[in-house]
Amino acid sequence: MSGGDMAKPLLGHRSMEGDPSITPAAGRTIGVLGSGDFARSLAIRLVCSGFKVVVGSRNPKRKAGLFPSAAEVTFQAEAVKKTDVIFVAIFREHYSTLCDLADVLAGKILVDVSNNTEINHNKESNAEYLASLFPACTVVKGFNVVSAWTLQSGARDGNKQVLICSNNQEAKRSVAEIAQAMGFTPVDMGCMSSACEIENIPLRLLPAWKIPIFLALGLFLCFFTYNLVRQVIHPYIREQKNKFYKIPVEVVNTTLPCVAYVMLSLVYLPGVLAACSQLYYGTKYRRFPDWLDQWLQHRKQIGLLSFFCAALHAVYSLCLPMRRSHRYQLIETAVKQAVEKKMNIWVEEEVWRMEIYISVGIIALGLLSLLAITSLPSIANSLNWREFSFIQSTLGFIALVISTLHTLTYGWSRAFDENQYKFYLPPTYTLTLLVPCTVILAKVVFNLPCIQQRLRRIRRGWEKGRYVKFVLPSATGEYSSGETSSNV
Ligand code: NAP
Repeated sequence: MSGGDMAKPLLGHRSMEGDPSITPAAGRTIGVLGSGDFARSLAIRLVCSGFKVVVGSRNPKRKAGLFPSAAEVTFQAEAVKKTDVIFVAIFREHYSTLCDLADVLAGKILVDVSNNTEINHNKESNAEYLASLFPACTVVKGFNVVSAWTLQSGARDGNKQVLICSNNQEAKRSVAEIAQAMGFTPVDMGCMSSACEIENIPLRLLPAWKIPIFLALGLFLCFFTYNLVRQVIHPYIREQKNKFYKIPVEVVNTTLPCVAYVMLSLVYLPGVLAACSQLYYGTKYRRFPDWLDQWLQHRKQIGLLSFFCAALHAVYSLCLPMRRSHRYQLIETAVKQAVEKKMNIWVEEEVWRMEIYISVGIIALGLLSLLAITSLPSIANSLNWREFSFIQSTLGFIALVISTLHTLTYGWSRAFDENQYKFYLPPTYTLTLLVPCTVILAKVVFNLPCIQQRLRRIRRGWEKGRYVKFVLPSATGEYSSGETSSNV
């Protein structure tokens, strides 16, 4: 899994936490316009953080009971007069109803917390629209990525980052101070033109997961169809045996490990391709093709989906003996054995194969769990770069090798058994081995001293055929300059 991906904060912008220019803000009076869910949660959090809160409502009498007693609930104009920083906790379509307050609002900081219902719904962001309605105010976009629930329960129970942007540095700092005093981590997203991006963030549905999910579904569908043909359709057509009962558990359970195993190898394949590209071009400064870039960025999600499928496979496998079909088969075998008067059906090789197969599978699942846990931002942040890279890269590769052993002990000699080729289709496990074995082989080759050394040099900035300037003293004592290739 990608080290960079998980080591960096949720958003690649400057965190304002620990900024010496941010001073404690608690004790100030903060205004809130609106008395809905967000305004209420905001008021509770502000009061708990030591601020004085004044809420501006169109109907203060009716709404006062909803707020903590420490917060003052009054008419909008009254509230605005009492403070310099005002959170506008109302929807964009109602902003124009505040125009009557333009005079009292002049010179104040307005914090736009609003969200849209669709991505890029309006031409200009809500914050820019608010700024256009109140040119005498300074507008700061912020707090929209935090839900009313997170506000109420405190920063510890939700996402701690509060994204802030504004064209006015002073106003931005002021709002950052408030966010920090409330226990959030303010993140500077730059000037007001970022407001649109900030407003789109809560509306995105798992943007980093789309490709990995489609990949997992695609693989699942392919392997499921393949297994269905081999385990159900083939016996039905060739021997008129009804094995359709196998579809919900057995076929799914033979499909899941295939997906988990191939997905795990797909976490490491782009790294191999990237290394091949660097070796071929002799530089690390050449851009990878877009598809490889995308692939590298999605390794964490691909790895987590691999773990998910592996965990499901483990649960399915544990439940196999619970099935009625399994019990019938056991009794059938016992009766057959009694009829044939067979006393001993113990096959030593089979026993050993199964013991090793299960043990190796458990170890592989354990390692995958470790990889999944350490990819969580809170855990990843507590590891240094070396620890993180050891777990994700070295242990991850070991997990791939152990999963390969698990697959091989499962398959054993089936690949060489003619009866296993249903409709001339080889056993599924032989197909799953293709990509992982390629990755393992490539990793072994990259670890050969001559190749490893070249890769290391490239990754430290060395380039094939790069010309460097040199300066030599001539016989007359003068200096002459020229160029030479750095790889000579
Ligand atoms: P809400 O419960 O519907 O409250 C909206 C408030 O706006 C009303 O209580 C009302 O208070 C006030 N308002 C002022 N002028 C109004 C008018 N002309 N018509 C109707 N209401 C008017 O909404 P909310 O969930 O608190 O959301 C408020 C803002 O916060 C929205 O922009 C939303 O996008 C943003 N936000 C909400 C959440 C969340 O989790 N809820 C999260 C992030 C951002 P008075 O009647 O007292 O004037």
